[in-house]
Amino acid sequence: MTPAQLIARKRDGEELSESSIAEFIQQYTLGNIPEYQMSALAMAIYFQGMSTRETVALTWAMLESGIRLEWPDDPPRVDKHSTGGIGDKTSLVLAPIMACCGLQIPMLSGRGLGMTGGTLDKLESIPGFRTDLTVDEIQELTRRVGGVITGASAELVPADKSLYALRDVTATVPSIPLIIASIISKKLAESLDSLVLDVKFGSGAFMKTIDKARQLAQGLVDVGATLGLKVTALLTDMNQPLGRFVGNAVEVREALVTLSGNGPADLRELTFALGNELLLSEGVVATPEEGSELQQRIIDSGTALEKFREIVAAQGGTIARPLDIAASQELISPQTGFVTAMDNQALGLAMIQLGGGRRVMSDSIDHGVGLEVLVRVGDRVQQGQPILRLFSRPTLHVFDKPPPAEIDTTRLVQTIKIQSKPTPPLVLIHERILPEES
Ligand code: URA
Repeated sequence: MTPAQLIARKRDGEELSESSIAEFIQQYTLGNIPEYQMSALAMAIYFQGMSTRETVALTWAMLESGIRLEWPDDPPRVDKHSTGGIGDKTSLVLAPIMACCGLQIPMLSGRGLGMTGGTLDKLESIPGFRTDLTVDEIQELTRRVGGVITGASAELVPADKSLYALRDVTATVPSIPLIIASIISKKLAESLDSLVLDVKFGSGAFMKTIDKARQLAQGLVDVGATLGLKVTALLTDMNQPLGRFVGNAVEVREALVTLSGNGPADLRELTFALGNELLLSEGVVATPEEGSELQQRIIDSGTALEKFREIVAAQGGTIARPLDIAASQELISPQTGFVTAMDNQALGLAMIQLGGGRRVMSDSIDHGVGLEVLVRVGDRVQQGQPILRLFSRPTLHVFDKPPPAEIDTTRLVQTIKIQSKPTPPLVLIHERILPEES
């Protein structure tokens, strides 16, 4: 079958054979199928979807485009993947805790794009921290320290690198089979034993509704399980930031505070819940209660913070000096009432305007800007009470460029909806999704 025939079959809603999918992806990776044919297939998949059998075949074909990490018979390897949110610094807290529980965590993370932040950008606010570890370094450091947090090197799933860049500019990112193949192929390349997925829904998430998030989560765990991973997912609320801080350096600082035993309750709740999935899956604990107690003990003893420092040092970073964080100003509530909702997407997009997020992948970012959200949905606030803290740089006017737009603080304050009727606090963790056959 020629590439054009295969594209036509998918365009017309037919099911593709496993071998034709494998051949297409192999030839695309070798550069024998041009980007315009790959774009056309991605768009056909976007409209027609894929069966589970096709999605499994696509995931496997993408995995086969590169190498896999190799491990001797030592402790089980685990990882967590989040579909992305505002203020989500869970990876920074979870990775050292898991490493302290005797598991290895070779975490491959991504960069922020659009409204959501990325773990690699956050970590790069630590001076010297390298997020470009080679395959040999990932394997060596994971064995020696217990974990790494780095970008996927070029040899791991090269088909995803090219395809993701193409999807980004052809409006084909929000396709469930393409998302599943992209995420699960990268996790399989880590040669993991167990994976937990944090699938977020709400105004600050990719998936706006819980139904869409459930559909994605079920697909992810089913495809992952079919390909040999022990995998579960949690559906979690992203209608307000996770924790108080949104940005890069400010989020690293909040993660450090959480690893020291303080920090916001929601970040700890989510970290422990995701950690419990991995600890239960690998038989480290028998119940979630035991898992949470173990994680709390590891924090209280100081070993989690020490492990984070060890991971940072192993990747070339140093947190001996305070992080570079911009000067702050408080924004106050214009009225008395109850916080009933937040426009979380607008808070995420404000990060781009502040210079801390990206519109396109090639944008550079300022790691020191950010926001602190001082209230939660359900809180009662008084007129004049600070509700947001803004960490921003003075706007510099460069002669040959138009002046950058100042952030509109009145609109920023309006992202926090205040009404006279009280509303209950949001529930963070909604559902646990297991593979369909179990
Ligand atoms: N994250 C990924 O790694 N891939 C996608 O397709 C979407 C989110």
